Amino acid sequence: MDLVISRPEGLYCPAGDFYIDPWRPVERAVITHAHGDHARAGNQHYLAAAPGEAILRVRLGQDINLQTLRYGERLLHHGVFLSFHPAGHVLGSAQVRLEYGGEVWVASGDYKTEPDGTCAAFEPVRCDTFITDSTFGLPIYRWQPQVQVFAEINQWWQANAAVEKTSVLFCHSLGKAQRILHGIDARLGPILVHGAVEPINRIYREAGVHLPATIDAADIKKSDPMMRKALVLAPPSAANSSWMRRFVDYSDGLASGWMRLRGTRRRFGVDRGFVLSDHADWPGLLWAIEQTGAERLMATHGSSGALVRYLREQRLDAMAFDTRYGEDEEENPAPAEAELAAVLP
Ligand SMILES: [Zn+2]
Ligand SMILES: [Zn+2]
Repeated sequence: MDLVISRPEGLYCPAGDFYIDPWRPVERAVITHAHGDHARAGNQHYLAAAPGEAILRVRLGQDINLQTLRYGERLLHHGVFLSFHPAGHVLGSAQVRLEYGGEVWVASGDYKTEPDGTCAAFEPVRCDTFITDSTFGLPIYRWQPQVQVFAEINQWWQANAAVEKTSVLFCHSLGKAQRILHGIDARLGPILVHGAVEPINRIYREAGVHLPATIDAADIKKSDPMMRKALVLAPPSAANSSWMRRFVDYSDGLASGWMRLRGTRRRFGVDRGFVLSDHADWPGLLWAIEQTGAERLMATHGSSGALVRYLREQRLDAMAFDTRYGEDEEENPAPAEAELAAVLP
């Protein structure tokens, strides 16, 4: 029997009687990371990797019933050995390794193969079956090294500051914002953040991640000259809100893997797109899959069809798992079907 199956509530382990990142409330939820499409409220018991505890509590409530394990620490539950291993996606993100009856399954959650210095780097885990993220499971998705993207952001910021324009960069408030803060050249000017970003910054700093000083944009007056030289980080949901009225003259940009598609920037209506993702690109997915040594693959998220087809051509046993992952509001704007169809091979 399969160690993990798909149920209306989410991915379910029958032997251990628990769910992994369920999208409906259940009794026992094992959580890979704190993004909204994976960590939902309303579960009775939560189990997660220890470095993600503070973020989970900020997002789901301080009083949730949460048990944590260090990376690599093993828990025996109903005969199933369970452990968490770094996924390199955001602080505390983990792959879930399950071992039962001599068989090993790994559920990746979301993962990224390029280490970024803001969370534990992705560690491939050998297994028989690998449940893999395939958000960017198309050959067109190939990321540049992140240093190049940070250099582009620095350049854009510097050019805007030179003409007294604020640089407003939209990015996911959990993970992406901290990665950008960690990567950019903080000497270029003051850095302001949206109120959704600062609480997460605090948790990263407490975890020992170096982030430059940031100021809540709400604490700075519209007329303050520092506004005009500032880089501002805000979630994409702030883009068309009244929160933007505090900026007089600004250029805006969006940092997302979806920026690889030209239509996304146009539809979102920003001046600049920076291709920066916290998910593995196509070569990263194939590398990770190979490293696991798995003969059976289950793909979740977005473009699983193309990845499954490709893996089957490699004579691997691959299928798609129907999940609700990828619905995180902030992770939008994911491309429209038609837009994707245009770039499919
Ligand atoms: Zn995620
Ligand atoms: Zn996800």
